[in-house]
Amino acid sequence: MDKLVINNKKIELPAFFPDATYGCIKGVSPDDLKNENISNVVINTYHLLSGNNIGTVNKVGGIHKYSGISGIIITDSGGFQAMSLVRRNNKMGKIDSGGIHFKSSNGQKEIYLTPEKCIKTQIDLKSDIVMCLDDCTNPEESKDKQTESVERTVNWASECKYFFNKYTKNLKNKPLLFSIIQGGNFKDLRKKCADALIGIGFDGYAYGGWPVDKNRIFLSSIVKYTAELIPDNKPKYAMGVGKPEDIKKCFGYGYNMFDCVLPTRDARHQRLYVFKNSSYEYIHISNWKYKNDTKPISNNCGCHTCKNYSRYFLYNLFKNKDPLAIRLATIHNLRFYSDLMIKLKQLKIS
Ligand SMILES: [Zn+2]
Repeated sequence: MDKLVINNKKIELPAFFPDATYGCIKGVSPDDLKNENISNVVINTYHLLSGNNIGTVNKVGGIHKYSGISGIIITDSGGFQAMSLVRRNNKMGKIDSGGIHFKSSNGQKEIYLTPEKCIKTQIDLKSDIVMCLDDCTNPEESKDKQTESVERTVNWASECKYFFNKYTKNLKNKPLLFSIIQGGNFKDLRKKCADALIGIGFDGYAYGGWPVDKNRIFLSSIVKYTAELIPDNKPKYAMGVGKPEDIKKCFGYGYNMFDCVLPTRDARHQRLYVFKNSSYEYIHISNWKYKNDTKPISNNCGCHTCKNYSRYFLYNLFKNKDPLAIRLATIHNLRFYSDLMIKLKQLKIS
């Protein structure tokens, strides 16, 4: 697949979706994004729900009007937070066959995220790509736990499809519905999950679960195997895969959609990406060696930051904790990812 069309919107594939957790990316405006060829983002349903923001967002007219982002918006299901919050700390909630109970950190508020609530919330937000609720796991968890996760993920996906059809029945412009393949590091479970989800039928399929092991080694084998299970005429979304070398591998396996917090989080931590030969390197801009460096971050980058400012300027902004530092660094890193997608596409053509 080289493009994805949703109603009157079209995006070229492969595409990278930066994480705009609450509807915005820290420090940058939608115009900043547009100028760097980024018009699509992922927004997190759980974080909007937990901040009581959904009603207000809907009053404004939906997530696009609220955020000012006109491109394709994926709304995450909240399943990832089942792993990152609940599975790691049982004081944060519990998971049962009906859904995920999230407790606030002071224990006073509880959100019960069911397949119906997950789908209805995303449709009310006017998302372009709705994700099914899944029971996301860590690859280190036992086979019993992974089996349980696959069963829940399939049951919830089936319910999600039912409620998706119910709540979009009268909509003129329907979003797409994607499901998420779980199964940890077990090929038989990944296959069982993918077969069941493909049997139900979705518009796209995602690799779910943490894609690296406890030593932060990328799980190439299972990620590749899972891509092979997804039909080639459907979008293949590698959720949370963000290191440029891992994205490149995944693109080779057949994935064409990616999201990750890395480029924006690294920018805030003064870590900037620069292409070098067929690979890339980091510039740690707060290093003293840049304090007299008048070159741009990269001579080969066409972003607003590189066109207008020196490494020395950015070094000083970070040193003085000026908020402009985050904006300019984020703009550069997002442009790097946008350029990375173009390079991948050229790789395929050449
Ligand atoms: Zn740049």
